[in-house]
Amino acid sequence: AAAGAERPGPAAIALLGPAPGAPSCPHGPALLFVKTSHGKEEGRRFYACSACRDRKDCNFFQWEDEKVSETRLAAREEYNRNHQPFFTHRQNMDRYKNFFLLPLSKRRFCQECQQLLLPAEWEKHSDHQLLCDITTAQLKSPSQLLYPLENKKTNAQYLFADRSCRFLLNLLIDLGFRRVLSVGTPRLHEMIQSKASQEEEFSVKSLLLDIDFRYSQFYTEDEFCHYNMFNHHFFGGEAARETCRKFLHEDNGERVIMVTDPPFGGLVEALASSFKKLMAMWRETEKEGHDNREMPVFWIFPYFFESRILDFFPSFSMMDYQVDYDNHALYKHGKTGRRQSPVRIFTNLTPSMIVLPEEEGYRFCTICQRYVSSGNQHCEICNSCTSKDGRRWKHCALCKKCVKPSWFHCNNCNCCTLQKHSCEKTDIGCFVCGKAGHKRSACPSL
Ligand code: SAH
Ligand code: ZN
Ligand code: ZN
Ligand code: ZN
Ligand code: ZN
Repeated sequence: AAAGAERPGPAAIALLGPAPGAPSCPHGPALLFVKTSHGKEEGRRFYACSACRDRKDCNFFQWEDEKVSETRLAAREEYNRNHQPFFTHRQNMDRYKNFFLLPLSKRRFCQECQQLLLPAEWEKHSDHQLLCDITTAQLKSPSQLLYPLENKKTNAQYLFADRSCRFLLNLLIDLGFRRVLSVGTPRLHEMIQSKASQEEEFSVKSLLLDIDFRYSQFYTEDEFCHYNMFNHHFFGGEAARETCRKFLHEDNGERVIMVTDPPFGGLVEALASSFKKLMAMWRETEKEGHDNREMPVFWIFPYFFESRILDFFPSFSMMDYQVDYDNHALYKHGKTGRRQSPVRIFTNLTPSMIVLPEEEGYRFCTICQRYVSSGNQHCEICNSCTSKDGRRWKHCALCKKCVKPSWFHCNNCNCCTLQKHSCEKTDIGCFVCGKAGHKRSACPSL
């Protein structure tokens, strides 16, 4: 598949990025890829779906130099139209209003169609699993009502554990933010929305951008935009884009932060390109320039993508805070005896401002001027707190850097690595960590 993340042997598929005039699939403009071999471009370029890395979800494919006939274009357009959601966002809002007016006994949700039902529709769903007596509280927590779309390759919907979500929100409030652009963070959005409706003095607002259109049943067009973060596509067109722009520009662009938690399946360059466009959208606000300031960002992503994120955003740094998830068995907090989460916060805010909870074992390193994990020891030689995964790392004099405690220095490979490895060299780096000597599938970071 056109993954960008797969590296079959020395050949690979590389992303060239969004291209002007790219053809569209139901998920907006396709991305341009090229096959590479030993790091060199080779062979024909092609377009493939930006959002779906599984061919089963969207099989859009077109050679860059392919001539597409008028009939095929017309058929494609029709196909794209037919593959848009059945109800529009506006229709969903009208439905919501009517649903809200129903007595509890008539409020039903179809679990199979993932849809709020109006009484006239019950019959059509009579042999589906229905949830009855949907309370207003349930309507205010759609992330609990909807099932998480867990198909790994496309949606990978991993919801924040309550503790992590509350930590994030409190951090944002303490930092003085009043508006949150929630890009692929429905649960954070939901927490903000429900606090805003319950607490008089709570003054934070959120706009959710997400590809999961099910959320349009619960949020107005000022609260949710159907958005693809791999190609910066607003499904709602110019009006939706304008909603986003306005949101960023309120209060002269002050006190707004973007928080994003994308699927981890790769395509960092596509995400970075979209985030830069959102940041540029914010920058347009500043009539009298914000002297090169960047829109504040929290990008939540696994620590082993650090070097790739910093390639695109040199102003970012990685925080030690471990982000926990509800429905992800592996990504839970270490303190409770489960595995430690590899997911971190990358931000362009000054690290010393990001206060991590001492009761969860974080401490402030006065030399590094940032909060670190309790196990993260300051290395005198590197002059920094070097651990990425929370465990204590050890310094290797030969590599001239700190490495994982389980690694040892291999004289063959001339670097530190797992005890169990084969010394055969490959001349290209691993897609995940960028180091030579192994492929993505064998990356010790994973
Ligand atoms: N931890 C977050 C959810 C992160 S899961 C929370 O609890 O709020 C990743 C999110 O990104 C999901 O909401 C998913 O629907 C969304 N997503 C997946 N692919 C996307 C795409 N191409 N464009 C926009 N959002 C996407
Ligand atoms: Zn597609
Ligand atoms: Zn330190
Ligand atoms: Zn060191
Ligand atoms: Zn070493």
